Order: sequence, then C-alpha cells, then structure tokens
Amino acid sequence: MTAPFIMLVDDEADFVETMVKRLGKRNITAIKAFSGEEGLETLKTNMMLDVIVLDVKMPGMDGIEALREIKKTSPLTEVIMLTAHATVESAIDGMKLGAYDYMMKPCDIDMLVGKVTEAAQKKWDHEEKIKDARAKEIMSRYEQ
Ligand SMILES: [Mg+2]
Repeated sequence: MTAPFIMLVDDEADFVETMVKRLGKRNITAIKAFSGEEGLETLKTNMMLDVIVLDVKMPGMDGIEALREIKKTSPLTEVIMLTAHATVESAIDGMKLGAYDYMMKPCDIDMLVGKVTEAAQKKWDHEEKIKDARAKEIMSRYEQ
C-alpha cells in the first residue's frame, strides 16, 4: 500500500520534531509547519498532501481558522485535529467543519498512525470516486 503523505502543524516545535521522527520510522513521510499561516503556505506548494495533523491552539491563526482555509484550498485533504483537554470543544467544532477526527495530546504514536492511515484511505477512495464519475461522464457523451 502507498504510504500517506502528511503534514504536522503545531506551535510546539519539540513535539513536532519528535512526532516527525517517529512517523518516519513507521514509513510515513511528514513535513512540518509551526503555525497555521506556515501550514497554509506549505500546503500551497504540496497540494498532494493526504492528511494534515493540526493543533487547535496556536498563536496567530488557530487550528479552526487554519482548518477553514485548508478546506477551501484543498477540499480533499483530510484533517485530524490535535487537542488538549481544554480545547476539546474546538476539536468538535472542527469536525463539524469537515475535520476527519481529533486526538488528544500527548498522542500515542500507533493510534496516530492508525488514524492517519484511515484518513488517507478515505481521501484516496474519495479521489477514486471522482475519477470514476469523470470517466462515466466522458463515456456518456459517446453513448448518445
Ligand atoms: Mg499549541
């Protein structure tokens, strides 16, 4: 199976560096950003990103605002919100805005890998459906 291509967006640099290393050991390539703004800039040059793991609480653009922009820029990219106890409500708001799921910090690496894999699969299935719909549309032009 293809490995998902993901981005971690979190203002806690140590956390990001540690997670990126651990994901790498599990054959998941993760790029990093340390703010919502940086995450969006990075997305623009990496439109093939499958999953974005996004911290809710960040200075400047927070996770919810970043999520809205991500969904505008790249609607098929799946987002998993990262939250602490105090921000669970925001994570739930995030799911209403189209986030795939949320996880509490500090998160277990194997659980994160599990969720990232599921989210990537959902995106690939979605892309496949769109491809099929396009193919059907093209075929229908020749059937008349
Ligand atoms: Mg934070």
